Amino acid sequence: MTNAPAASANCLFCKIVAGDVPADVVASSERVLAFRDIDPKAPLHVLVVPKAHHGDVSVLAAADPSLLAEVVATADEVATELADGQYRLIFNSGPRAGQSVFHVHGHVVGGARLGWTPA
Ligand code: 5GP
Repeated sequence: MTNAPAASANCLFCKIVAGDVPADVVASSERVLAFRDIDPKAPLHVLVVPKAHHGDVSVLAAADPSLLAEVVATADEVATELADGQYRLIFNSGPRAGQSVFHVHGHVVGGARLGWTPA
């Protein structure tokens, strides 16, 4: 296993992981946390994050692929538990793609028929 990166001092999601910023947590394991988005775009809108700080999905995929797999598995579990198991999993990667918090997070969106496309 690689050494987990330390929490980033000014990272909002590191603060949520640490319990310093409140969140509506729906799942937690040794390495992964899932909590409801503060501004939901669908009946189910949960963010799934690794507890260790990684900036985006590219960084996480390179640094710790098994942790990325845990994030995806948690997304699937949350969607099955809280909705009907049909969902979209979105990783915005980079500001032009809409990323605004630079601690990798998968958006689990579902609970309704979803429109397409994002552009
Ligand atoms: P991004 O734009 O980086 O892909 O997604 C960031 C997400 O974090 C947004 O959907 C936004 O609503 C959510 N968010 C921002 N601040 C907070 C917060 O303090 N608590 C929670 N639960 N979600 C947040």
